[in-house]
Amino acid sequence: MNKKEFWIETYGCQMNDAESEALKITLKARGWREALTPDSADAVILNTCSVRQTAENRLWGRLGFYKHAKKEREFKLTVIGCMAERLKDKMFSRVPEIDLIAGSFQKTRIADYLEKTFSADPEIKLIGQEEYEFFTRHSNNDFKAFVPIMHGCNNFCTYCIVPYVRGREISRSFKDIYNEIDSLDSGNVKEITLLGQNVNSYTIQAGSRNMDFPALLESVAKRVTNIEWIRFLTSHPKDLSDRVIGIIKDNPVLCNHIHLPVQHGSNKILKLMKRNYTRESYLKLAERIRKNLDNVSLTTDILIGFPGETEEDVKYTMDLIKEAEYEDAFTYYYNPREGTKAYEWGDPVPQDTKIERLNRIIELQRSVTRKKRLNKIGRTMKVLAEKRSKKNKLELLGRTEFDDMVVFPGSADSIGKFINVRIEDISGDTLRGKEL
Ligand code: SF4
Repeated sequence: MNKKEFWIETYGCQMNDAESEALKITLKARGWREALTPDSADAVILNTCSVRQTAENRLWGRLGFYKHAKKEREFKLTVIGCMAERLKDKMFSRVPEIDLIAGSFQKTRIADYLEKTFSADPEIKLIGQEEYEFFTRHSNNDFKAFVPIMHGCNNFCTYCIVPYVRGREISRSFKDIYNEIDSLDSGNVKEITLLGQNVNSYTIQAGSRNMDFPALLESVAKRVTNIEWIRFLTSHPKDLSDRVIGIIKDNPVLCNHIHLPVQHGSNKILKLMKRNYTRESYLKLAERIRKNLDNVSLTTDILIGFPGETEEDVKYTMDLIKEAEYEDAFTYYYNPREGTKAYEWGDPVPQDTKIERLNRIIELQRSVTRKKRLNKIGRTMKVLAEKRSKKNKLELLGRTEFDDMVVFPGSADSIGKFINVRIEDISGDTLRGKEL
């Protein structure tokens, strides 16, 4: 076939971002070009997310849009990712114009099948579930890169669809991880993030050697020479060990930022969610992290409106936010996901109650975030400049190792470089400063 133009839309988590980037690299290596707009693409690929109903609703909207567009012009439509895994039959029946569906597994072979959709006899419209294979490269030598180290999850938190759509945990061979990191390290990459649904469960047996997550983290920290920041996402609080905290402390290349999703502050709700920790054990862990790591930034996820949640449970969560003093939190309200354990318990907390509780949580976290950021005024911070500000073309946006967003005057030449910025002010949640 003549190589053509592709367009990829990505929804959901960083793992999807990483896999979409990897697919772009694969397609470009086979002679494809990235289209500037979807209207000129010969192949449109939607990489989907199933974690929340809102993400799925958006995707149905996009499928409606492309179904209509297919009446106007010729192009191939491919759907991949978690929602494709979960709802493939429904997708084919509602949008028969879809040319190819591949779920969460055989993404490395999508390019083969995508090219076949252009032949007179495409053979296959659905790539089945086989063992997950990791792409070999997930970044095109940008200054920031994701490096997946594992896939799937064995935890089965009662609200979460991930183990059903991404399957059981599979750890990537550490040799493949090293290969990818070595090639990023010899390029322009300044920051990498080791990715997995629960990175702390990473484990690989190679001969007599067992590599667990702390061992991997330490070896990666010692291995890199040009990469200056290493992060990891996501950590389950029941699995983040003191060994990991010690390794972060001893290796300055590991960022002093830990995302530690608590989900709720009430022991009753944590038990119903099957999170396998208590608010007390979580807070002790947070305290150990703060005690050992200088100026560490702790961020979290909070899920409000779970079945059985009362006002008292919300109060526990608000108290926990005050005690943990998160630098930031990603907050959301509960949506039942069909197929999960909690789906059987219905959705008893009324929608307006969920929204009202969520708003209180957001407001509280904002005040905690603001207080913590105000304390940074006057400090000089190392910032990785990421892009131009949309509001003011003369300003740049960047992030600190603690994941604070910083705005400062600067030119496009600085993008992708580390800049020392003196923090002078805060607007909203964003730090503002000047280059030193
Ligand atoms: S740890 Fe729980 S919330 Fe996270 S992906 Fe696994 S099942 Fe979902």
